[in-house]
Amino acid sequence: MSDGVQTTGRCLCGTVKYQVQMAVDTYGVCHCDMCRRWTSGPFFAISCGTDVKFDGEQNIGRYRSSDWAERGFCKTCGSSLFYYIIANGQYRMAVGTMDDQTNLRLFRQVFIDEKPDGYDFANATDMLTGKEAFAPYAPKA
Ligand SMILES: [Zn+2]
Ligand SMILES: [Zn+2]
Repeated sequence: MSDGVQTTGRCLCGTVKYQVQMAVDTYGVCHCDMCRRWTSGPFFAISCGTDVKFDGEQNIGRYRSSDWAERGFCKTCGSSLFYYIIANGQYRMAVGTMDDQTNLRLFRQVFIDEKPDGYDFANATDMLTGKEAFAPYAPKA
């Protein structure tokens, strides 16, 4: 999947920059407990495939948050940069770190069952529970 729009982004302090070929213009948001602890809010992420080039990679910390994924952050400013799926090398980049978010739009909310009652998004989106979100990846019986 190397087709798509070339997009750039960076962390808050700018020591980590990246370039991706983005094939989609829609993104999801995750309300799970881990994402909220990690970002102090729901985590907005967009599928960017495996083709992500970093500048300042030595400044990226990687935290293995589960058996199947790592979360990347800037070691200097702490910006949450990406969710990385180990098995297939796919990156879900943090939408908030992208330089141009003009044409991107929210299409899906996951872990809606873990969302605190204190906020709600008005966008009309798909809504999946954690179980539903993981169903496509579950091993077939
Ligand atoms: Zn930084
Ligand atoms: Zn999450």
